[in-house]
Amino acid sequence: MQEQNQQNGGRDPRTLHGISGSPGIVIGKVVVLRRGQDASCHAKLAADDIGPEVERFVDAVRLVESDLMALRHQFEDELQETLSIIDSHILMVRDNMVLDQTICFIRDEGINASWALEKSLDLIRRKFADIDDGYIRDRFSDIEYVVGRVARRLAGEDSGLPVDVEENVIVVSDDFSPEDTIRLQAEKVIGLACEKGGVTSHTAIVARSLGLPAVLGLADVTSMCTTGETVILDGFTGRLYLAPTRDQQIQHLEYNRQHRAFTSELARFIHLPSESMDGMRVRLSANIEMAEELATAQQYGAEGIGLFRTEFEYFRHETAPDEDAMFATYRDLLAGFAPQPVTIRTLDVGGDKFASHVTARDVRLDLERNPALGLRSIRFSLRNPRLFVIQLRAMLRASCYGRLRILLPMISSLDELSRVRAILQEIMQSLTRENIAYNPAVEVGIMIEVPSAVVMADALAAKVDFFSIGTNDLIQYLLAIDRGNEYVAQMYEPLHPAVLRMISQTVEAAHKQGIEVSLCGEMAGDVVTAPVLLGLGLDELSMRPSAIAYVKRMLRYSCYSQLSDLGRKVLHCADAIEVRRLLTRYLPHYYPEEFASR
Ligand code: PEP
Ligand code: MG
Repeated sequence: MQEQNQQNGGRDPRTLHGISGSPGIVIGKVVVLRRGQDASCHAKLAADDIGPEVERFVDAVRLVESDLMALRHQFEDELQETLSIIDSHILMVRDNMVLDQTICFIRDEGINASWALEKSLDLIRRKFADIDDGYIRDRFSDIEYVVGRVARRLAGEDSGLPVDVEENVIVVSDDFSPEDTIRLQAEKVIGLACEKGGVTSHTAIVARSLGLPAVLGLADVTSMCTTGETVILDGFTGRLYLAPTRDQQIQHLEYNRQHRAFTSELARFIHLPSESMDGMRVRLSANIEMAEELATAQQYGAEGIGLFRTEFEYFRHETAPDEDAMFATYRDLLAGFAPQPVTIRTLDVGGDKFASHVTARDVRLDLERNPALGLRSIRFSLRNPRLFVIQLRAMLRASCYGRLRILLPMISSLDELSRVRAILQEIMQSLTRENIAYNPAVEVGIMIEVPSAVVMADALAAKVDFFSIGTNDLIQYLLAIDRGNEYVAQMYEPLHPAVLRMISQTVEAAHKQGIEVSLCGEMAGDVVTAPVLLGLGLDELSMRPSAIAYVKRMLRYSCYSQLSDLGRKVLHCADAIEVRRLLTRYLPHYYPEEFASR
């Protein structure tokens, strides 16, 4: 779209640029909602007032807990993803990190609860600032929501955003909690615009799961909008148009119509085979973080689970799940997808993902100096065999209920693989002794996400049943770009020819040994990078469920011979710019022109 006004660094000042939180275009009247003013005051307490202040604080925490429980109850029928976010907030409000620390500040420093709570949040903020992973860092905003709710309760206010709004409005606010988002949606709000938030914030996740268009990260939007004015909210491009012209409105209504037509066309693809026009089949499967996503994956036509990130099962609960609980989860997933494969990855904890109850003997994972290169993933599991054995036993017990593929993350040498194989062997022997059924021929594969594994791919391929390339990490380790560091984020380049050559080498090594290669990094579900991956010969792409139909449509409209041609050419490109230039020649064939150009 052309923007006429060239002020403001060449941008139209009436067009605000934020982040696309949830797709969709809506045009409507705005309601600006602000949370209550920051009610926190700082006061020193007399010795006699300390005990009652601790009690007042604990009461406020309990009130927030019961608010959240009531909300959970009210939305019991909503999507599981949404409920589990409320659950995680309930856990956070109970978490000692906030509770104990605040009580300590009240007692030790003799300060009032609001002040002590602010200090606890500062401490947590500093801890999170050191975390590399964007997803985990976005979790800090959840802690902020929860702490904010407690602060408002301490100030005697209701803890949520006021939701008494008319129907069909676009709500603009400084901040939405995921709970606000759910309640607002129930009030028939058509879109959200917000000053805070990132793509992986829970507000964005909830908005997407509710199908509510949202633009986040719009600095100062609450002071730039007035209640009652008409705006266009474009959740595809992350823009908010203030005082839109008639032409802009007509143009956006047309985009919306095209998008609706495109998505209903996509729906046709969900249950069609994923094959190219010249008959090449590629498995398109789903990445999931929670077993409850099984139904969603099936609805979107996933042909299996290409990656179950089991660490979230550990993070969701206050204690690590036991063997029986894990077994039941894995069994249901396998049975639900049988005979299609379900790839369950062993715990990928450490680095930037940790929970206080998941510890490796003497190691404090949150204190590691260089966590991405530290006791992560398989290194953690091998150092902490008790937890590892429990998880592997649960997997083996479930292996009779469908087609299980056990996936080992972050393997960087043959030695690590042999050590895991030895542990598996021992577990199989003890299951046999205990007369417990399992599949002795269960498939075992490794993630290729460390450059040394690519270099050794020929040797590793001889020892496993499949590979799964984890480009999220492979890019980070290969290009030396911390995947969560915003200062180098523009250098995190999936189409860097070095990345593409590594993928190609891995595929070649695997195919020489006759084993399959999947790819489960974010690249797999990106409509721009997926054609390149298919051209490089991957047997399976695993992605978030909602991306499957897009990639399948592209595959079904493609000739494999052309994709292979593209795959060969990208390996000779000097840089990512050249790769992207090549790609633009192919993309318009796969996607409607207007999406490629916007
Ligand atoms: C990857 O590294 O590409 C991957 C899929 O694993 P995760 O994002 O969980 O590290
Ligand atoms: Mg990884």
